[in-house]
Amino acid sequence: MEQLTPNIFTETRLRGCNPSFVTTSEGVVVIDTPQLPTKAVAMRREAESHGPIRYIINTEHHVDHIFGNYYFKGAGTVVNHQGVYDNFMVVYPELDPFAYAYEALPTPAGKGTDLDDPTGVALWPDRDEYYADPNKGTVVFTGDLTLHVGDHTFHCLHTPGHTPGQLAVHVPEERTVFTGDTIFSECQTWLMTSNVDQWIASLDRIRALDVDRVVPGHGPITTKAYVDTQRATLMEWKTAVALAVAKGWSREETVARVNFADRCPVDIGQGYMMNYIQTLNAGSLWDKLTAVPAASAR
Ligand SMILES: [Zn+2]
Repeated sequence: MEQLTPNIFTETRLRGCNPSFVTTSEGVVVIDTPQLPTKAVAMRREAESHGPIRYIINTEHHVDHIFGNYYFKGAGTVVNHQGVYDNFMVVYPELDPFAYAYEALPTPAGKGTDLDDPTGVALWPDRDEYYADPNKGTVVFTGDLTLHVGDHTFHCLHTPGHTPGQLAVHVPEERTVFTGDTIFSECQTWLMTSNVDQWIASLDRIRALDVDRVVPGHGPITTKAYVDTQRATLMEWKTAVALAVAKGWSREETVARVNFADRCPVDIGQGYMMNYIQTLNAGSLWDKLTAVPAASAR
C-alpha cells in the first residue's frame, strides 16, 4: 500500500475505491474496504500487522466501498451512516451489486482487466451466505459522529450528494480528509444516484476544513484545491443538461448529445464503463430536471 504519513496507508491503484487505514496508539481504523476479495484479505492482513482493527468506516453504500467488509468479519466495529446502512448491498432494478462485484473478476462472465482479481474467484461467497451477514454497520448514526481512538480523532462528517449517506472522514491529527466519492480525482464522476445541489454544499464543507491532504474516493491523492475542479465538473454537467431541457431535447437526444467523456479517463480498470457513465449521468439528470415536483413541495 502507499504510505502517505507515518500513520496513513492507502491504495489508489486498485479497481474500485481508494481503501485506506489509519494507525493510532490504540489500534487501526479502516476507511472503506477493497471490492476485490484478494485485495480485501491482503489489506486486512496488512492493517492487522499494525495493531488490532478497532473500527471500519464506510463512506458510502456503493459496492466498491462496502463489498470487502465481508472479508473483515470479526475485525473491529463497522460504523455506517443510516443512509449507508439502509442501502447496504440492496439490489435495485438497475443494478444488482452482488453481480456487479462478481463481474469485476476476470471470469467468463466478467469484464475484468489485468488490474482485476483472477484469484478472487476462490474466495467468492455463495449469494445466500453473503447476504446472511455482509458485515454492515453495528454503530449506525444520523448527522455527524466523532470517534476518539488512542491519539487520533475521526470526525465522520455527513456530506450527502453523491449518495444520501455519504461521509467524509476528517482526521485533524494527520491534517487529512478522506472524502469518499465527494471527490473523483482526475477521473470520471458518477452522478446517477446523486443530488448535485447537496453535493456542491458538501464540497463547501470540505473546503472549510484545515487540511493539507485529500484522499479522494477515486484517483490520485490531491489537495483542497481540487474541490474547485470537482464543483466545476458538477456544475458543467447540470448546466449542460439544464440547457438541453430548455431547448426541448428529449431524454434520448440529451443522452446522445451531452457527453464529457473527453475530460478525463474512468478510474482504473473500468474504462469499458465510459459510455455507461455518460449515459446514466445525462439520463438521470434529465429525469431530475424534468420531474414534476410533488404536491407537498409546492
Ligand atoms: Zn460511489
